[in-house]
Amino acid sequence: MSASEIILSPWARNISPSPTLAVDAKAKALKAEGKDVCGFGAGEPDFDTPEFIKQACEESLRRGDTKYAPAAGIPKLRAALAEKYITENGVVGVKPEQIVVSPGGKFSCYLAILSVCGPGDEVIIPAPYWVSYPEMVKLAGATPKFVFAGDDQGFKITPEQLKEAITPKTRLLVLNSPSNPTGALYNKAEVEAIMAVAIEAGIYVMSDEIYEYLLYDGVEFVSPASLSEEAAACTITVSGFSKTFSMTGWRLGTLMAPAPIAKAVASLQSQTSSNATTFAQWGALAAMERPTEAKDAIAGMLKVFDRRRMTLLDGLNAIDGIRCDRAQGAFYLFPNIGSYGLSSTDFCAKLLEDELVAAVPGVAFGADDYMRVSYATSDEVISKGLERLARFCQGL
Ligand SMILES: *Cc1c(COP(=O)(O)O)cnc(C)c1O
Repeated sequence: MSASEIILSPWARNISPSPTLAVDAKAKALKAEGKDVCGFGAGEPDFDTPEFIKQACEESLRRGDTKYAPAAGIPKLRAALAEKYITENGVVGVKPEQIVVSPGGKFSCYLAILSVCGPGDEVIIPAPYWVSYPEMVKLAGATPKFVFAGDDQGFKITPEQLKEAITPKTRLLVLNSPSNPTGALYNKAEVEAIMAVAIEAGIYVMSDEIYEYLLYDGVEFVSPASLSEEAAACTITVSGFSKTFSMTGWRLGTLMAPAPIAKAVASLQSQTSSNATTFAQWGALAAMERPTEAKDAIAGMLKVFDRRRMTLLDGLNAIDGIRCDRAQGAFYLFPNIGSYGLSSTDFCAKLLEDELVAAVPGVAFGADDYMRVSYATSDEVISKGLERLARFCQGL
């Protein structure tokens, strides 16, 4: 078959590559050419994985944990995760069989969606949203329905907005708090109000908690599944080790759901990817079994992130024409650049071209008046990048 004769499936034809990974790749390519790029595109912490986790993985490798593991994960890790959700998050009576360890939080999200959504179903996705949710929903044959929440409402949808968006076809609501790309965090009252609407309507909630430990200003994280038995019964909680422990390359995600859903997810996983890498799971187990070291590692990272967050936030808000919300989670800020009258794609392309500053256009997240800037980068890049951005904005 010649290249011109290749006919792709509807799934392959309609999917676009992740735009956040694309921006990062472009910035890295320019850097490789020797250009002095200030990269704000990163979707991963710029720290190394804590040494004690690497060591546990290495020992596991030497021990010979190089074979298949059970599809849902090694029993010790599933048990440790069940225990974590009980003691840390306050979810009642979680059993190991409710836990699935997957090859990445991203895959956990995909399997969560696949396990409850199919053709004809609608999935409510608050916008700005993480780029992969709509594509995953479409791969499941379902239809994404967006509910927009701009910076005027702190990037959080209201229970009224949710109620209005629900139809008889609605099957699932996607919640991501703290959020990528906005860093917004739903507080307890807000989570309660959203969950009350979801429970009343009889829909599922996928709670993406990958940033649960990356919190600032002393705010508290609330897991929807911890609110009540009814809340736990309709919630699929997804997370992973990537962001908390700088383990993006390890590909380790987690999922907690009512047992029948977890069982279905494990089956889907066993037929598509088998287990998450065996020795990587043993490394992750160290993060669960050695809480003091784990907490120290997180605290060290948070201190640095918080300092950068404040520098970036103040620098952005000092620019005439930019307005930026004080996000309290993750490692992103999502400034409003709508006053310049450019599309976010044009703004970011021109910014990269003129000033070698890389940021992700908001349109990728369903919000064209914004751009995403990640502070998972050095203080030096942040101050230099801010200077360049200020000059760029002045010239517009
Ligand atoms: C990074 C991220 C994930 C998952 O990342 P993995 O590396 O696949 O574990 C999931 N959800 C959001 C919102 C993220 O930003």
